[in-house]
Amino acid sequence: MHSTTPVPSGGTTGRLPHVLVIGGGIAGLAAAARLRGIVDGTERARVTLLEASPRFGGKLLQGEVGGVGVDLGAESMLARRPEAITLARAVGLGEALQPPTTAKASIWTRGELRPMPTGHLMGVPGDLDALAATGVLSPEGLARAAEDETLPRTEIGEDIGVGEYVAARLGREVVDRLVEPLLGGVYAGHADAISLSAAVPQLLAIAQRERSAIKGVHAALAAAAKNPDPAPVFTGVDGGIGRLPGAVADACRAAGAELRTDTPVAALRRTADGWTVVTETGPSSGGQTLTADAVVLAVPAPVAARLLAELAPGAAAELGRIEYAGMALVTLAYHRADLGPLPGSGFLVPPVDGRAIKASTFSSNKWGWLDKAAPDRFVLRTSLGRQGEEAVLDLDDAELVARSRADLREAAGITATPYAHAVTRWRAGLPQYPVGHPQRVARIEAAAATLPGLALCGAAYHGVGIPACIADGWRAAAAVTEDLVSGAE
Ligand SMILES: Cc1cc2nc3c(=O)[nH]c(=O)nc-3n(C[C@H](O)[C@H](O)[C@H](O)COP(=O)(O)OP(=O)(O)OC[C@H]3O[C@@H](n4cnc5c(N)ncnc54)[C@H](O)[C@@H]3O)c2cc1C
Repeated sequence: MHSTTPVPSGGTTGRLPHVLVIGGGIAGLAAAARLRGIVDGTERARVTLLEASPRFGGKLLQGEVGGVGVDLGAESMLARRPEAITLARAVGLGEALQPPTTAKASIWTRGELRPMPTGHLMGVPGDLDALAATGVLSPEGLARAAEDETLPRTEIGEDIGVGEYVAARLGREVVDRLVEPLLGGVYAGHADAISLSAAVPQLLAIAQRERSAIKGVHAALAAAAKNPDPAPVFTGVDGGIGRLPGAVADACRAAGAELRTDTPVAALRRTADGWTVVTETGPSSGGQTLTADAVVLAVPAPVAARLLAELAPGAAAELGRIEYAGMALVTLAYHRADLGPLPGSGFLVPPVDGRAIKASTFSSNKWGWLDKAAPDRFVLRTSLGRQGEEAVLDLDDAELVARSRADLREAAGITATPYAHAVTRWRAGLPQYPVGHPQRVARIEAAAATLPGLALCGAAYHGVGIPACIADGWRAAAAVTEDLVSGAE
């Protein structure tokens, strides 16, 4: 039997509407923070956040491998967008923000580690000479890329697969050896399927405006260089990005929000004057019914589909069609004395090269805080699997470590034995943004908008990166607040 529990309304928050946030990943936490005025000082609602798992953070996860604190999920945030930095500062992590020590990465292709070319936009070069110098492309691949400057215009319509567009302009090799591994690092997907408009809008603008992609990228990069912005492109957090969810949760609690872990939501219902949410756990574990004026749904798309199946079947069907990619991260800890020097921040591996790993990050080179915390250790990680290739996640830990070590030996000459390891499987880790994704999201949001006091947010909608998820949480918070204001008028 369910028990109905009114949510406590204490102190100054008593007269505010009550919003239930479902999902305690970074999007849900950002929504809760916004509603409690943590970002801008304006309290908009009383907040109860319900998280299914025993911890907050979702894909942000702090861990420890061989006595060294590391990120076992996301590890870096785009700093060219303001949202992640703003939120980190608002919850007291401003001083802890740290850019990578080195951004120099390599590509393991055609039998060796080769420098990542400079001056490109998601792998599309702005300078063929610079690309030629890296040896990433074969002579034939380079000759084909050069045809971009003379080929007639590529008609792309409203949208096109990133790979399809780049292959038409510069040839398949640029897609296989540059675009695929770079896009793979963000989506773990396939360049031909991923939407140019959703994933690389800057390149879509170039494709719509210019005949030559190379010239368009060159001009865009030259314009960016004229506007010298000393801010680094990415930032980390001293101790790991995984600290951010805990800091946001603490700030939310301190601001009067109620946050619960181990509380999966099983059902969502509309009532005459608001919403009820039924949890799977609660008093005596029979489940609990909570009431609210509005709901922010900050869960992965399949969960949102399930919760909206009766309320908004059209939106639920669209949500159910959003596909996810899974991957495994293998973190290896070495005694530094056992290793020779390793170059830069790590390397990407084009899938076409047929290796087991898709990338390796030399974390102790990349993050100064990690090097400082454990100067006699060296931590690196590899990733395996991408959309449609998730079978690799079913291999046991020992096999994933062995495959990683074999590739690290061949790519970077690492023969030492790690003294500790951790394998983290992220099944359904990253939503895919195929051609048509923005239109699908628009249909989902239009359907959700017919249910006043409901907003969806998270990686499935307007960007998978942490700043995009934070922005989406804020957008959802604003949307439900507006609904409540207009509903009260
Ligand atoms: C391995 C990996 C590495 C990544 N690296 C980076 C990176 O370096 N930089 C970057 O910007 N991005 C990175 N990303 C992407 C980014 O981390 C995610 O897109 C983002 O964190 C997703 O946040 P979210 O809040 O939308 O979803 P999630 O993090 O998935 O959070 C959703 C939450 O909802 C909860 N939930 C699910 N069902 C229910 C229910 N029924 N009731 C209540 N709660 C429920 C879940 O337990 C979870 O906590 C990475 C992603 C992965 C998988």
